[in-house]
Amino acid sequence: MRDNSFKISYSRINTYLFCPHKYKLIYLENKYIPLNGDISFGNSVHKTLDSFYKSGNYSYESLMDSLNTCWESSGYETNQQAYVSYLRAVDVLKNFWETYGKYPPKKISTEHNFKSEIGKYPFIGIIDRIDEYEDGTRELVDYKTHKIIWEQEKIDNDLQLSLYCYACKVALGFIPDRIAIYFLSHNKKIYTTRNEEQINNAIKLSVEVAEKINNNEFEPNKDKCAYCDFKSSCKYSCLKTREDDFKVTIADLI
Ligand code: SF4
Repeated sequence: MRDNSFKISYSRINTYLFCPHKYKLIYLENKYIPLNGDISFGNSVHKTLDSFYKSGNYSYESLMDSLNTCWESSGYETNQQAYVSYLRAVDVLKNFWETYGKYPPKKISTEHNFKSEIGKYPFIGIIDRIDEYEDGTRELVDYKTHKIIWEQEKIDNDLQLSLYCYACKVALGFIPDRIAIYFLSHNKKIYTTRNEEQINNAIKLSVEVAEKINNNEFEPNKDKCAYCDFKSSCKYSCLKTREDDFKVTIADLI
């Protein structure tokens, strides 16, 4: 059972902005997003990189050992899909190792949990990576495993990076010298910056969302149904079929 006490986190704010009713389903009604191949792949690669860096052994063999320990084959429709995905993970991680993995910075912190406050609300999250270099500079890195690479403008306006910059300052006591999203499927790290105004806007938006959640405002956003994990089960979904409606009615009567 999830802890339902309210906290600000990037995932929660982002879910609410996508659709307030989706927020309610996940965070108040404890509905779980069904595991699929993309989520499973992302989990496996994140865990592999965490395990690889925590091992302190930066050889290619160590990276593959981590992959084989952390690989999850659940969430795929067939064993064949899982196998193809595993081969993709090997390829992605090989490229990562050639470019970055075998040249580690001086110090690396992976899956860094933080806890702070935004206004009167607790603020929590996990930063994929914080690297510290020989010259004392620090770099905040967020991994993305999906196949689509974002435009610079999207990266420059990404809410998650703004909130994580704030977290570095208030929870971890430093301002990152560089901020990057590492698109693993393209082996491409794209840099961005954040100024005071962008961080303040992210805080303001988070507090506004938090207030709406506290006021029980969970109006469905039907414009997003086509992209939603609950499109076939949510009672407000504009994509539900008549067959789905029938199933719900029967289930309700039992
Ligand atoms: S199916 Fe539509 S209304 Fe329901 S949670 Fe998803 S986006 Fe919101």
